Amino acid sequence: MGNIRVRFAPSPTGYLHVGGLRTALYNYLFARKNRGQFILRIEDTDRNRFVEGAAENLIEALKWCGLQFDEGPDIGGTFGPYMQSQRLDIYQKYVQELISHGVAYYCFCSTQRLEALKEEQQKQKLLQAKYDKHCLALSKKEVEEKLANKDSFVIRLNVEPNHRIIFDDIVRGRVEFDSNNVDDQVLIKSDGYPTYHLANVVDDHLMQISHVIRGEEWLSSTPKHVLLYDSFKWKRPVFAHLPLLLNPDRSKLSKRQGDVAVEDYRTKGFLKEALVNFVALLGWNAGDDQEFYYMEELIEKFTLERVNKSGAVFDLEKLNWLNAEHLRKKSNEDILILLKQEIHHSQFSTLPAGRQVLNYSDSYLLQVIAAMKERVSFVKEYLTKSPYFFEPPKEFEETAVQKNWKPETPAQLKKLSNEFNLLVANPAKEDYEHALHKVAEELNVGKGKLIHPLRLAVSGMSTGPGVFDIVVILGKEETISRINKALEIIKTS
Ligand code: GLU
Repeated sequence: MGNIRVRFAPSPTGYLHVGGLRTALYNYLFARKNRGQFILRIEDTDRNRFVEGAAENLIEALKWCGLQFDEGPDIGGTFGPYMQSQRLDIYQKYVQELISHGVAYYCFCSTQRLEALKEEQQKQKLLQAKYDKHCLALSKKEVEEKLANKDSFVIRLNVEPNHRIIFDDIVRGRVEFDSNNVDDQVLIKSDGYPTYHLANVVDDHLMQISHVIRGEEWLSSTPKHVLLYDSFKWKRPVFAHLPLLLNPDRSKLSKRQGDVAVEDYRTKGFLKEALVNFVALLGWNAGDDQEFYYMEELIEKFTLERVNKSGAVFDLEKLNWLNAEHLRKKSNEDILILLKQEIHHSQFSTLPAGRQVLNYSDSYLLQVIAAMKERVSFVKEYLTKSPYFFEPPKEFEETAVQKNWKPETPAQLKKLSNEFNLLVANPAKEDYEHALHKVAEELNVGKGKLIHPLRLAVSGMSTGPGVFDIVVILGKEETISRINKALEIIKTS
């Protein structure tokens, strides 16, 4: 393959849609795999849709996902500027070239006339409303007069009727359109801004884009683009249209049915590795059933030839599963960094005065991670599933209390806490086990009689890691203090 240059060309809507992320990712993987360039171009020519800060949000979301581009609005490059609103004179120059070749023409039709035409065509049940080339009949002189008169106008593409427009697509194979179904598309709007079609083709050419990889929703625009490439006598890029993203009920993925912004998933605590892995599989597989991937392996294995034609179902269950897998495969030290950020944004970020044991030192948190790693799928679950590592329980699971907190329990637990008190300063897990064993023998009861209430007293819960793992992490003083506190609370409740 020659020089590979691909681009992600979003219109800034205010957020990065997961479908956009999929497009960006496939472009990125393709560029990296083929040692090409990945370009970000912001297609902001629709002034009605302008959203302040949207481009910045997009860039931030792409960078969070690890999709670093080689050229783009904030970093520049040889083919800039990379914001279409800064390239307006370029489009004007090229549209004039089209006009001089008769491939584009001025249209002065009023909105009323266009509306009436549309209504008429609807009445005739025409499949698609199309402009009727009315202004193509204007003489050069008439056009000049109207321009001199400052009449409002657009510039349209002159689509020749009665021929087939054919192009090849890596994903869809040979694609054919009947030119009778292609409208005389507006290229320059009445505000002087280009439409997507003109700006997109001119920029892809000038930026030397070799492959256009984008969502299937743009397939029906491609015949117009092909006409433009051919009219300019420019080499067409290679096209690859990616399959639609679908809800589990196979309807088009929409905002109504769930989150669609990358930002939403980030806020919900998904790892970027999991999101990227998940999105990579929305329309592509390596030909086997492997589902877990890191970015490096995706780069190594990705090919456009293995992108599917049929719609890709957005399966949240799989995303959850991938998140758990990616989290578990991280080293405890890497999780520590994430856990500290999570704590920083949680209610546990400030330590209640006088609390010594739970000072969240790195070594303390690493013990929590080791104990909980197999039980959590999200970093925030370290806090929600085991809040007792961050503050003493204020409540005790009602059903567990009823089941395990017998009239004789307080005296038995008191004895246990006295025994714990006799232990060395930093007891090991076995020390606690021996102490409990000893007390159970002395009381002539099964160990369970002590273990369940002990767990309840120190954690407030009936499930979690082994109770001896919990008390070792909490430490002797905190454990004893919690037993005493539970004895007060549970007795009086
Ligand atoms: N601006 C279009 C979009 O918002 C770009 C489509 C394309 O890649 O050609 O997705």
